Amino acid sequence: MLNFLKHITPRTKILFVAFILILLPGAIISYLSLQSIRQKAENLRIKYNGTVNLVRDKLENEVSRLETNLRNVAIEKTPESDKPASLKVWLRNMESENPAFKNLFLVSADGGLISSSVSLGWNNPTGIQSLANQQAAASFNMAEKSELINKNYIESITLYRQALVSSESTHERALLLSRIGRCYFKLGEYKKAINEYKKILELENNEITIGNVPASIVALSQITDCYEALKAYEEQYNATLELYKHLLDQPWDLTGGEYPYYLNSVSGKMHTPEVSAIISNSLERNIEDLVIREKRLLEQIRFIEFINKNILPEIESELRQEFPSELQLHNISREVNDSTFQLRFFKLPAAFQQYRLLALAYQFKKDYILSDLFPKVLASVELGKDVFIGILDENDSVLYLQRNIPASGYLVAENFSQLFAGWKVALFDPDGKTIEQLTGKEKQLYLMLFLGIIVVMLIGIILMVQAVIHESEISRLKSEFVSNVSHELKTPLALIRMFGETLDSGIVTDEKDKRKFYSIIRKESERLTHLINNVLDFSRMDAGVKEYNFRESDLVEVVRSSLEAYKFQISDDGFKIESELPDEAVILRIDKDAISQVLLNLLNNAVKYSDEEKYILVKVRKDMTSALISVTDHGVGISKDELKKIFDKFYRVSTARTKETHGSGLGLTLSKHIIEAHGGTIEVESEVGKGSTFLVRLRTVD
Ligand code: ADP
Repeated sequence: MLNFLKHITPRTKILFVAFILILLPGAIISYLSLQSIRQKAENLRIKYNGTVNLVRDKLENEVSRLETNLRNVAIEKTPESDKPASLKVWLRNMESENPAFKNLFLVSADGGLISSSVSLGWNNPTGIQSLANQQAAASFNMAEKSELINKNYIESITLYRQALVSSESTHERALLLSRIGRCYFKLGEYKKAINEYKKILELENNEITIGNVPASIVALSQITDCYEALKAYEEQYNATLELYKHLLDQPWDLTGGEYPYYLNSVSGKMHTPEVSAIISNSLERNIEDLVIREKRLLEQIRFIEFINKNILPEIESELRQEFPSELQLHNISREVNDSTFQLRFFKLPAAFQQYRLLALAYQFKKDYILSDLFPKVLASVELGKDVFIGILDENDSVLYLQRNIPASGYLVAENFSQLFAGWKVALFDPDGKTIEQLTGKEKQLYLMLFLGIIVVMLIGIILMVQAVIHESEISRLKSEFVSNVSHELKTPLALIRMFGETLDSGIVTDEKDKRKFYSIIRKESERLTHLINNVLDFSRMDAGVKEYNFRESDLVEVVRSSLEAYKFQISDDGFKIESELPDEAVILRIDKDAISQVLLNLLNNAVKYSDEEKYILVKVRKDMTSALISVTDHGVGISKDELKKIFDKFYRVSTARTKETHGSGLGLTLSKHIIEAHGGTIEVESEVGKGSTFLVRLRTVD
């Protein structure tokens, strides 16, 4: 099964094992640490949730305490009477004593509503139907007929006055005076009309009404009309201002809609161009205050009308339920125009039933709660330095932040109970980060670190494996080198010795044979010298102590004389050596011996690695920047893979051919070193079976 492993090289195996050894524990460690980060996030969440719950409970307890307080105060202090004015005062006091609540209102047994400034359907005042005194009533009827049918205003004034004499109440008096005023107005006697209306004002009784409207309001409104008719603008303005104040001070019941109508028309009159022309700066400021009061009043009116229309039925149905406990708090929450409308109420105890008062309702004053109450409560909670509290609404918009830091995300948030529906208590980190962001960074950092370590370890292992492989290759080459060199030394020595001994013994007498033997001894000793030179040079070069003797010399001359010597050396081997050399000298700064050693190495190789085609071409050329020596053979050639390696020390291509020939694997290493010491390059072009060309390039100019 593991057969395929046989084909894997030791290098891949080492890498594979190292990879597994690093990756496996790495993966386990990273899994465990990710788990621990997740656990940490979970622990943080639990811790923060605990804090937020604690804070939320504290805030809610405080609000509940205030609500209980409101109920207790309400129950202890019953209103002085059931008159709207006294109920309004009672409500106003309650509001000022309990700043956390607003829009307090009472609900009456017959569905009336009253807030600190307005009422609706509350003890609706009705005007008098007829006069009490019979004689007066008769005069009144005649006067009305004369005024409305006969349009005899003078006669009707007389008849109204007769009725006035025998009238029995301020109510009746106010009604009659207003009728007299009206007749004068119709006659165009505005000043007289004003006089009559002023008499109504002098009655100084706030509860008198004409129809449903307070008598003073009717009188003032008529007075302004009279001044307008008289074009007495200043007086008209003063009277209107008076009327405006009256309206703001004493709003009457909203039923029938007269009050909002009056308020609207009067505030409109306050801003006519004629009026604006006579208003001084101080008066204007005075009016601004009144306008603010009017705005508040209109808000109250809208609120009470909204309750009457939308919420009252629900309050009444909850109150009707059997035995609703007096202490039980009711809560109404409703979505109105995309925001939550919230109202709370409780049933009033029996003491209130004498006034037919059923329930007290209120809303939270959120501004106060957020800017006063919560900060105070939060100041007493110890949260630690690194977190703070914020309150958010249903859309996660910030309502309140404990610290003045813009916060984008929160750590954890907890909803309030029904007290503040939709609101949340949230815990913030000073940088506005979420738990995921807090631990995410750690996670990222950890992963990066882990990957970094893996990469560094892998690189280390690859380098180490490479170094080991290189070293083992070198040591293999070295031992090969030793056996090669000893062989190279032994062969020529054996030959020299053999032929030397033969000659010495005097057996050979033929001169021709003798010369042949001498020639062999010379050739073998030259081969020996060449080998020893190469080995010595290499050891100098390897130790970095090789010295060169650079002189200005003629390269052509160096090549020519080396070739001459070499031709002579291999004259018997049947090699054809051609040369193409320039006629003129090529002068360069070179070490002549070193260059001729390079040439000798190249020629030697050309001879060693040639088969049948025994041909060598040596060329010297010169171009703009360099001089070139090329040595071409038609030998065995070198494969592409080997081309780069042949210049490495001890390296020998392992083919049948190289096994036959002896060598040290140093010739090209040495040649390359020499040429590079001259500032030149050595390259090779070769094709297996066709031959090779070695190209030496030496620079002519610096
Ligand atoms: P060696 O002593 O083995 O000749 P060299 O450093 O001179 O050492 O050469 C290294 C290797 O390059 C040789 O073993 C041989 O295989 C290859 N080589 C060098 N010159 C030639 C050539 N002219 N033709 C074919 N192969 C060559």
